Amino acid sequence: MAIEANYLGMRIVLDEHEVENVEYFRHCAAHDFRLQACRACSLVRYPPGTACPWCACPDSHWVSVDGRGSVHSYTQVHQAIQPAFKALAPYLVLLVELDTQKGKPTEHEALRIVGNLTRSDGTLAPAELAQKVGVGTRVRMVFCDIAPGLSLPQWTIDETAPQASPWRYPGL
Ligand SMILES: [Zn+2]
Repeated sequence: MAIEANYLGMRIVLDEHEVENVEYFRHCAAHDFRLQACRACSLVRYPPGTACPWCACPDSHWVSVDGRGSVHSYTQVHQAIQPAFKALAPYLVLLVELDTQKGKPTEHEALRIVGNLTRSDGTLAPAELAQKVGVGTRVRMVFCDIAPGLSLPQWTIDETAPQASPWRYPGL
């Protein structure tokens, strides 16, 4: 069954033929972060897909993954392209490297998940909170409920983790 929702004035449609995405977001709606693990090589993958990107095996199963990691990179958006985000700029888009499977299958690889920086309640973080976040910030996943059956995985500062000074682009 397709999933439809309205998020910040934008229509979101998740087509039922996108089998892996529908399953991924079905787990997200239950606030359960799950990814596919390959039945042949056991590696977990993201984004959801039909076959393992490392060994091409089509068989997988969904496993619970700890939604904690460090900011690997970020973009601070000052000029929102989407009108819905205009009032929320500047805001952060984070690329978060999970602790799970870090350095596998090679030392340069990891599971890296995109999301916005939010407060702990899943609402987009204000500029003063965004200023505290940069490369290396420890974050944890939160789920933002936007419609019945649809929640977006987002990132908030992990208040239980020790935080070193993050790297931020100089001058901004
Ligand atoms: Zn595999």
